[in-house]
Amino acid sequence: MPEKTIFERIRDREVPATIVHEDEHCVAFKDITPQAPVHILVVPRKAIAQIGTAATTDREVLGHLLLTAAKVAKGEGISESGYRLVINNGADAGEAVPHLHVHLLGGRKLDWPPG
Ligand code: AMP
Repeated sequence: MPEKTIFERIRDREVPATIVHEDEHCVAFKDITPQAPVHILVVPRKAIAQIGTAATTDREVLGHLLLTAAKVAKGEGISESGYRLVINNGADAGEAVPHLHVHLLGGRKLDWPPG
């Protein structure tokens, strides 16, 4: 059995996190090093390593992650002001945790292009 990632340990309540939403497909919790006033990670319960290795059979859960991020953004009160969803894939993007996650960032003006 491979060692669990930090996000699986949060999912399984072995590591504390501020969980803002959970359902049968995903868990959403506050990022421990927030890059914006709202910085939440939406993580599938299924241990999909990254978007680049997701399978077509993951289609439903992938769609669910985006719809959930939008729902959480609404709950955080940033639907009107705007927000950004980010998926880092691989070293050049700075992916650090090999468990797919959607960053929800908002609550301030975000620069474009990103650094
Ligand atoms: P990425 O660089 O896309 O892989 O993003 C990983 C994110 O996970 C970073 O923004 C980290 O701050 C965040 N992170 C790492 N450990 C934890 C944790 N224990 N609780 C919440 N967020 C975490």
